[in-house]
Amino acid sequence: MSEHNGTCHCGAVTITIDDTPTEVAECNCSICRRLGTLWHYGPRASVRVTGELAGYVQGDCMLTTWRCTNCGCVTHWTAIDDTYDRTGVNIRMFDPSLWQDLPRRFVDGASY
Ligand SMILES: [Zn+2]
Repeated sequence: MSEHNGTCHCGAVTITIDDTPTEVAECNCSICRRLGTLWHYGPRASVRVTGELAGYVQGDCMLTTWRCTNCGCVTHWTAIDDTYDRTGVNIRMFDPSLWQDLPRRFVDGASY
């Protein structure tokens, strides 16, 4: 286990992940394509977030997308269904050396 830390632009929100990403996911769904996020996925317990956040629930009510209330950076998403043990972290909030050279996996979220 190797911890990595990221922050939003203003630094009010901090994100810690326990895993080292080996790839990042780029999704074309209606929200991700607008946000320009790159996702790292992990079990809920492997992601810790502190700070003041505002949530946005999409029309399908599956996920809450979280952003810093001060600077507006999108930091992560959580599943509304508690039994779905997966969280997505916007890896762009981390130092580029952690993710910029990783393979990008295209997720066709627009099709389902
Ligand atoms: Zn912020």
